[in-house]
Amino acid sequence: MVEGLRHITCASLQTQLLMRFPFMRHRRPSANDSVLWRGRFGLGTGRRIELNLHLAFILTLVVVTWLLALAFFPRFFPGWPPAAYWLVAVAVAVFDGVAGLLHELGHAVVALAKGRRVYRITLYGLAAAARRSGGPSHPREQVAISVAGPLSHLLIASLLYSAWNLPPTDNEPLRVAAGFPAFSNFTVGLLNLVPVSPLDGGRAARALIAGIFRV
Ligand SMILES: [Zn+2]
Repeated sequence: MVEGLRHITCASLQTQLLMRFPFMRHRRPSANDSVLWRGRFGLGTGRRIELNLHLAFILTLVVVTWLLALAFFPRFFPGWPPAAYWLVAVAVAVFDGVAGLLHELGHAVVALAKGRRVYRITLYGLAAAARRSGGPSHPREQVAISVAGPLSHLLIASLLYSAWNLPPTDNEPLRVAAGFPAFSNFTVGLLNLVPVSPLDGGRAARALIAGIFRV
């Protein structure tokens, strides 16, 4: 059986309502594509997965940190020491960056478990893209692969929510460092499950309809 290739784009909170970016047709990024770092890792299989960090990923972390530290947090949580704004902003940006990676890993783990191949993952910051083998498969498999990404956000949100309860109630910076990404991951997870293309929920809905009507 000749396997097809699928280009999958996953949107984060900021890009939920935008359509696919043309530059995310996920051929192998070259040096000209502003990939700052490239590595390989295994997920318990023989073939390793290529991970690319795009320049946009780093720029997004910097911009999000800057906006949170200088604009958002001082406006809504006045009275912290200046260093606290920056530390919490960096923590939130890193949490959300890692969440983007875990979203793609959620898809990858289920795809590998269903016998697919996962070739590469590229993190763009506002979105991520993965390339994996496609081809015929049971709609139930496609639903499982599609919802694994959003569910990873909901899992992260529940863990962060548990962490939010740990600091004393008067330690607002620590509680915001856990509570803010808990809320954003919860929101991103739910939004990604909305059955609208090109979101993961749209892919899952398409597979469900195909399974029900055998199209
Ligand atoms: Zn996804």
